[in-house]
Amino acid sequence: MCGIVGYIGNKKACPILIAGLTSLEYRGYDSAGISTIENDTLSVLKDKGRVKNLKNLSGFNSLQGTVGIAHTRWATHGKPSKINSHPHMDNSKTFSVVHNGIIENFHELRNFLTSKGCTFYSETDTEVIPNLISYYYNEIKGTDASNNIFDFLTAVKRACDKLNGSYAIEVISKDFPNYIITAKKNSPLVIGKGHTENYIASDIPAILEYTKDFYFLEDDEFAVISKDNIKFYNKSLNEISKNFKQISWSPTAINKNGFEDYMLKEIFEQPDSVRNTINSRLTENGKYDFSDLNLSNEYLQTINKIYIVACGTAMHAGLAVKNTFEKLCKITTQVEIASEFRYRNPLIDINTLCIFISQSGETADTLAALDLCKNAGAKTIAITNVLGSSITRMADNYMLTHAGPEIAVASTKAYTAQVTLLTMFSIHLAEILGICDKNLIEDLKYNILCLPDKLQKCLNTNKIIKDFASKTFTEKDIFFLGRGIDYTTAQEGSLKLKEISYIHSEAYPAGELKHGPIALIEPGTTVITIITDESLSAKSVSNAQEVITRGAKTLLITNIELSNNNFDTIINIPKIHPFISSILAIVPLQLLAYHIAKNKNLDVDKPRNLAKSVTVE
Ligand code: GLU
Repeated sequence: MCGIVGYIGNKKACPILIAGLTSLEYRGYDSAGISTIENDTLSVLKDKGRVKNLKNLSGFNSLQGTVGIAHTRWATHGKPSKINSHPHMDNSKTFSVVHNGIIENFHELRNFLTSKGCTFYSETDTEVIPNLISYYYNEIKGTDASNNIFDFLTAVKRACDKLNGSYAIEVISKDFPNYIITAKKNSPLVIGKGHTENYIASDIPAILEYTKDFYFLEDDEFAVISKDNIKFYNKSLNEISKNFKQISWSPTAINKNGFEDYMLKEIFEQPDSVRNTINSRLTENGKYDFSDLNLSNEYLQTINKIYIVACGTAMHAGLAVKNTFEKLCKITTQVEIASEFRYRNPLIDINTLCIFISQSGETADTLAALDLCKNAGAKTIAITNVLGSSITRMADNYMLTHAGPEIAVASTKAYTAQVTLLTMFSIHLAEILGICDKNLIEDLKYNILCLPDKLQKCLNTNKIIKDFASKTFTEKDIFFLGRGIDYTTAQEGSLKLKEISYIHSEAYPAGELKHGPIALIEPGTTVITIITDESLSAKSVSNAQEVITRGAKTLLITNIELSNNNFDTIINIPKIHPFISSILAIVPLQLLAYHIAKNKNLDVDKPRNLAKSVTVE
């Protein structure tokens, strides 16, 4: 959620900061601001609203400084307003700070600082940070008139020691015009290494245009950054060395590439993203290679339960593979919502394999659930799209989906890549356990190889879906039905629709309809049914017939030839093994959500109230 950017070098910081904030806009925010060092004083320009509005603020055009920090805020404490926007300064205007996260004990810290004579101007939790730094800086400095950078660092560290909660912060000071200090705890932050210039951001795409070399700061570490140097310190302020990682994403991957919106581009990228994910694990002889995971065959034989833990769309990816794990590996597999799982004392032991899915690798609830499982002695595997993200560093093992950067808030290509990768992993596990029918495994492997081409065919439904959307976008409620894997697809299709079109929608297991929800169906209600599993198709058709009889308007997504059906609109998708049919069947539903939102003139890439990576609880 929200974002921070920093620059130090020889160029004017302001345009780089604005460009960085603009590319972080997708994360969701309500206010923006920047602070630069101008002739040894701190400038601060900020307001609620869009990043581009900063350009209209007085003083913007005269910013010349080559050192600066910037912020997009997603308000947690205090409404979106100019005064609550970041950066925040201390009372003496010596330090300027941007902060992502939440300071849980800010009341107590505010009382402490008030008792020391400090005045607070905003309602934010953040404003305690520059004032604490200032307080400790004055205490350390005493009467010493020299400006020692270690004093600045020590003051930041002492302030951080007092903070409970989560933070990624950047601090600049008029007394140290050649430095930016950063620190983090439970909030994302990356440092990009340039040549005679360095960058900071909350995630990689914001600065990918300038560098591919990234350092990942760990919790409780500090970085002192000048234009020629980056020094890292642990929480005892001992200097530590860190290696940078090269990121292979191309900067063009974060352009819209001729598409009207990122979401549409990302839906159309799915043949490639799924192909890349498959290829990342496929060896020449058709076997799957998961040897990079630190999991011995002996260990894998001991697993007696699998938890898949995630939030939102990633949780649906877990649901989409639950049955596959159980059928192929004969291991009970439970899929859990991270924010529930973390507080319910689940039964975990060393024979439980815990898998966590997070596109961004920064989802706060998923990270907390992971921590819980590690502490209970279970082995943990993370599935993420972002190399170097927090989850890759916390889990015992991680697997990358190779979907490329996903910018639109509503996840599309990450979902299909997650289901693909997890299915491949379940096949790998089944092969090691040696308890599954070989023909089924070979059939599934063949079907996986067909996915990219078949996804391409699913994209051809775009036109008919667009027509359907133009007739449906004024609806107040839309229902989704399915059985088995098709129920999971229904859930994900319904979530997409809610997220970006704001139409109320529910997904039901088709057989459950008559136990309550059918009371909601009246003439004209739109009901979307998904049928891709031959063994359940007759049952699903009967359930759909029940709503047709009550006057519902119906859309069917299927890859089965159904005799005697009365659906109003039918979308045919290619045949595929039902274990992985969600990867194809979700595509028309992603397109439907997209076109309905476009018909309603909504911002599909940045839906209201939502943020791309949910880094707070
Ligand atoms: N908690 C801080 C505030 O409300 C920071 C929010 C953010 O991460 O943007 O200002």
